Amino acid sequence: MIALSLAEIATITGGQPHDIPDTGREVTGSVVIDSRKVEQGGLFAAFAGEHVDGHDYADKAIASGAAAVLATRPVGVPAIVVDDVQTALGKLARTVVQRLGTEVVALTGSAGKTSTKDLIAQVLQHHAPTVWTPGSLNNEIGLPLTALTADSTTRHLVLEMGARGIGHIRYLTGLTPPKIGLVLNVGTAHIGEFGGREQIAQAKGELVEALPENGTAILNADDPLVRAMSSRTKAKVLFFGESDEADVRAENVRLTDQGQPAFTLHTPTGCSDVTLRLYGEHHVSNALAAAAVAHDLGMSADEIATALSGAGNLSRWRMEVTERADGVTVVNDAYNANPESMRAALRALAAMAKGRRTWAVLGKMAELGDEALPEHDAVGRLAVRLNVSKLVAVGDREASWLQLGAYNEGSWGEESVHVSDAQAAVDLLRSELRPGDVVLVKASRSVGLEQVALALLEGE
Ligand code: ATP
Ligand code: MG
Repeated sequence: MIALSLAEIATITGGQPHDIPDTGREVTGSVVIDSRKVEQGGLFAAFAGEHVDGHDYADKAIASGAAAVLATRPVGVPAIVVDDVQTALGKLARTVVQRLGTEVVALTGSAGKTSTKDLIAQVLQHHAPTVWTPGSLNNEIGLPLTALTADSTTRHLVLEMGARGIGHIRYLTGLTPPKIGLVLNVGTAHIGEFGGREQIAQAKGELVEALPENGTAILNADDPLVRAMSSRTKAKVLFFGESDEADVRAENVRLTDQGQPAFTLHTPTGCSDVTLRLYGEHHVSNALAAAAVAHDLGMSADEIATALSGAGNLSRWRMEVTERADGVTVVNDAYNANPESMRAALRALAAMAKGRRTWAVLGKMAELGDEALPEHDAVGRLAVRLNVSKLVAVGDREASWLQLGAYNEGSWGEESVHVSDAQAAVDLLRSELRPGDVVLVKASRSVGLEQVALALLEGE
């Protein structure tokens, strides 16, 4: 973070200094919400969670070197007392980004935000110093914390923005106003909470509404609900996608023998060949989105292609491919799942088969509301249509829908099994896997299906 005195922080947040001997002292370390991560000269933001209240750790944070605590009440150690810690963090982030003049690239979408954010960050780093959201910290707390890690050397700030309802993205763009806004896709993630795809589009489109006239909206030409967002922005619009009309597009898309996507990248200024180090054709769309951002910031097609071809997975459990010594390949995509990402992962699995047996170990996709039954049914059916050798559906009700879908599509029993939990799946796989098999593991975060992938890779 840039150095700010405690007095300045109090002014920016509208807070009151308490028990601070010297308000001229500068905060030079990171802003954190976990007292165990406090840095010398940092700021500890005390949140009251359901189980733990950060205020109880205020003295520990100071003992670990924090310059002060951002709190909602005096805590007996140096503190800036504010009405609401989240709002205060937001104000700090806004001020810091404004002072630095850092250009914000914000992105949202139903699936692929983190993967694309990681790609953008890796490409832009070739261009200028870049700071980006670690992992998936895309909400009203994670976003300001990320923005506050920018310093005077930072040129680009790449921020993932998540939306769980109308107004969320508007709030986030208010904290760190973006110059470039990218919308990846409108799928069915969190549809249960939103009510429908139109509402999801409404919420995600808030990103392009927030862009200034001299900004750029980067939109997926292949997704009609995203394409339609071009009418909701004052900014210049740049389309990416496989369609011919897209400004940044891919031609000759194919999978290499290793199952990694390759294509010829076309930007308005040139074309160049790309081979990704990632698995799954859905990453073509993510890579094009990243290329569009980089093009807008002045990178040439060759520079972008080189950077994309060198980019790897930065965030764990997303299509992480590991080959065991015995030739079994484990594809750990257990970070999360929704219908779009399930389909993409199954297609990637099918592409990796090359005559080998494929296993899809799948668990429920959460938060689908009324769509839950048909969506699980459709995924089960797709597994059969893609000739996945064996579907292992893990869990309760939704897993039975997955299996039923497979059954109704023509899988007559042996190709699809339903097991109660992750341990049962591990037991089954340990006894039945043969060298050369490819195993995809995927479900929503709450299922914790990475346990299966990790168990299969134990000792590797
Ligand atoms: P979250 O909402 O949990 O933050 P996210 O939007 O950040 O998710 P990622 O973490 O990048 O998305 O990916 C989630 C899942 O979606 C992974 O399984 C990944 O393989 C898959 N995925 C990534 N990109 C796409 C895409 N363009 N279309 C469909 N699925 C995708
Ligand atoms: Mg994410």
